[in-house]
This record gives sequence, C-alpha cells and structure tokens, in this order.
Amino acid sequence: MVDPVAGTLVVGAGLAGSAVAMHLAEMGEDGVVVVDPDLAGVRSSSELNAGGVRATWWRPVNVDLCAATIAELAGHGDALGFRERGYLWLHRPGRWEEAVAHVAMQNDRGREVELLTPAEVRRRFPFIDRVDDLAGATFSPHDGLVDPHAVRELYRARARAAGARFADRSMVTAVHVRDGRVTGADVTEVDAPGADAALQGAPARGATTRVACARLVNAAGPWAAPLADLMGAPVPCRAVPRQVCLVGTRDVDLSPYGMIVDATDVYLHHEAEGLFLAGYSPPGDPPAYRFDYEGAAFFEREIWPRLAHRASAFDRLEHVRGWTGLYELSPDNSALLGAVGGLRGAFEIHSFSGRGVMQSWAAALALAELMVHGEHRTFPSAAALSGARFAGDGERQPEELHI
Ligand SMILES: Cc1cc2nc3c(=O)[nH]c(=O)nc-3n(C[C@H](O)[C@H](O)[C@H](O)COP(=O)(O)OP(=O)(O)OC[C@H]3O[C@@H](n4cnc5c(N)ncnc54)[C@H](O)[C@@H]3O)c2cc1C
Repeated sequence: MVDPVAGTLVVGAGLAGSAVAMHLAEMGEDGVVVVDPDLAGVRSSSELNAGGVRATWWRPVNVDLCAATIAELAGHGDALGFRERGYLWLHRPGRWEEAVAHVAMQNDRGREVELLTPAEVRRRFPFIDRVDDLAGATFSPHDGLVDPHAVRELYRARARAAGARFADRSMVTAVHVRDGRVTGADVTEVDAPGADAALQGAPARGATTRVACARLVNAAGPWAAPLADLMGAPVPCRAVPRQVCLVGTRDVDLSPYGMIVDATDVYLHHEAEGLFLAGYSPPGDPPAYRFDYEGAAFFEREIWPRLAHRASAFDRLEHVRGWTGLYELSPDNSALLGAVGGLRGAFEIHSFSGRGVMQSWAAALALAELMVHGEHRTFPSAAALSGARFAGDGERQPEELHI
C-alpha cells in the first residue's frame, strides 16, 4: 500500500516517470513516490515500442532533447543495448525537399546527416534494389537502436538508489485541488486483472488511499489525457493503437544496419538472426485504448507489399508474431513538458508522439530542473514544449516526419 504522504507524486512509471523520479531524487528531492497500476508495464508504451533513437527532427527542441538523450544512452554502451548503426530514411519527391531543408539545422547541432542519391542508397545498402521512385535518402550515422527495457530499469535503479520509491498496483483515481493548487490524489489498489482492465478504460476498483502531496507529475503516457481530466486541466492529446510485427527472412541480413524507414513510412530493423521488426502507422487511425493485434492480416496488408516494392530480397517473408502498443499524440506531434497551466503544484511530461524513448533522459532532466529551480537550465529550448502553446501562449512545434 502506498504511504499517505508524498513530496512529489509521479503518476506513471514508464520511461518518463522513472526518469523524472531519477533526476528529482538525484537532485536531492525527498519524498519522491512513483505510482503505477503495473510496474512491469505490460501495456505501457515503454515496453511495446521499436527502440529506435534518432535526432533528425525538424524542431530544434526535439533535436536537442534527442541528441542529449542519445549521448547519455550511448555512454552506457552494451548495458543498454545501444547500437550506433544509423537511421536511413528514404524519400520520394515532395517530402525529399522538405527533409533536405532541415538537414543544415540538424548538422549545426552536430548530427552529421548525409544526403544520399538513390544510386548511393543502392551502393551502401545493396539489398535495396528498387529505387526508381526515390528522390534521395538521409542517413544519420549517430542514431540507432537501444533496449528500452534496460533504459527504464537503469532509470528506476538510479531513482531508488537516490531515495525514490515505486508503488506497484497503485492507480490514481482522483486528484484533489484546493484554491488552484494540487493537494493530493486518491490512489486505488488494483490487482493484475484490475490493472489491465483499468488501462483499457474500466473503472479501477479496490481499497483507496488519499495521498497528500506538494507536487504531482502527469507522466501517464497514453493515459495522460484521462489523468489531466481528473486534474480538471484537460489536454488535447490522444492515444492511438500502433501495430508492429516480427518478420522472418532467409534472404537478407539486416544486422549491419540500424533503423530503415521506407518512403512509404514502413520502418524496420534487425531484431535477431533471421528476424526483423517492422511497423507501420496507418494515417487517420482513430484513438482507442485497444491492444488487439490483427496478426498476419496486418503484415499482409500494410507491411509486406511496401517492403516487396522496395527490395527483391523482401519478395519472400514470413509473418512471425506482433503486438499493439499505444502512441500518445499531441496536436503538433511534440511532447507536453512543463508546469500545468492554472494549477499550482502540477507538472506534466507526456505525449511524446513516438519519441519517448529517444527523449526520455533529457526531457525528464528538463522537467526536474524546472520543478527544482523554477527554470530550464540545461535545456533552455525545452520551454517551447510547454502545454501553454495549445492555449495560444507560445508557438506550436509541429513535427511531420514521424512514424
Ligand atoms: C509501436 C510503438 C513504437 C514506438 N517506437 C518508438 C521508437 O522507436 N523510439 C521512441 O523513442 N519511441 C517510440 N515509441 C514511443 C515510446 O514508446 C513512448 O513515447 C514512451 O514509451 C512513452 O513513455 P511514457 O513513460 O510517457 O509512457 P508509458 O511507458 O506508457 O508509461 C505510462 C505509465 O502510466 C501508467 N498509468 C496510466 N494511468 C495511470 C494512473 N491513473 N495512475 C498511475 N499510473 C498510471 C501506466 O500503467 C504506464 O505504466 C513507440 C511507441 C509504440 C506504441
């Protein structure tokens, strides 16, 4: 059972909440408590993602937070499964010009992104032999892949070592506000089936403890919008199911490469011998708290035709298995990070829009510094991610090339 008093109550123990707890505790904050109905994170995006990390974004703030996180994760090398194999992103005419337009900004920030002609793509990635419809490709050599589970466990271990506590089977079901300030939250104990049902929209039932806290952090990932509703401070974010699958191949070895993003937005990377991971996000899929996976039908409709169009080595592929996780999307496809407008003591870090692994370390540091020092110190550009931008205070931070 969770203690009835916390200094900072962090709601959600995925990569975001675990990293915020780590930074706050390491900065000397007492009483950091993280609550989650399922610390294992079976439904959390942090356990269901593709593990890609890149800093080739169009907004400087997103490049900065990703670049710093990648540098931090790379520093742990094998322990976090970091592989600096690069991101290859193929483009057709139209989007190619837009991609090229942002490379100078990315390279000013040290990313060393290369522009490749279709012929260079063929030469450097010989299995990609159907390039007639391509205008070019970007290759960002310092990006790559990481093991998100290992990253989350590192954040949690450091948080615990610095005094933070994690409460499992604990779901926030109400937030208490007095005179415009958060004063606490109701935390309901749930068992495993209850947690699973609650994360798919059922009411959480169980013994409830009223936890008093000085500060509350919304780090509930795809569930940030319902939590914001409980706070009386709604956010314009939504959770959208995204399917990924494991694909068997005997004809191509992708192990030398990092992430490959086709011009059709299918993405893929080596997973194990004879196996790669592939995903595709159909535009316009409706929001839902749904985790059912379509199986081979998804592979045959969305993945295989796009891959076979790109390479003869993909003519023969085998669907192995797959799963569905939730993307947490904001209206401009950039995260919400900062103080919650109009609610003292309330902070938020969520809606990474497919970027939550690759920004986790730096975004959480930016929030922790704001909470402790009242200002962004290491990453001044993080101010651009304040949720106030959706209330007309600040510029939106639109990102187009996300998968
Ligand atoms: C298929 C897929 C592929 C992706 N690929 C990539 C990628 O390659 N690279 C990348 O950087 N990102 C990727 N992402 C996105 C990334 O996984 C997320 O942005 C990131 O994991 C979000 O972390 P989080 O901690 O904010 O949310 P989560 O990991 O979802 O954690 C939120 C936690 O909040 C808890 N919670 C919810 N409601 C409550 C409540 N009321 N009380 C207490 N706790 C609560 C949940 O149980 C959950 O554990 C992908 C996502 C998906 C779905």
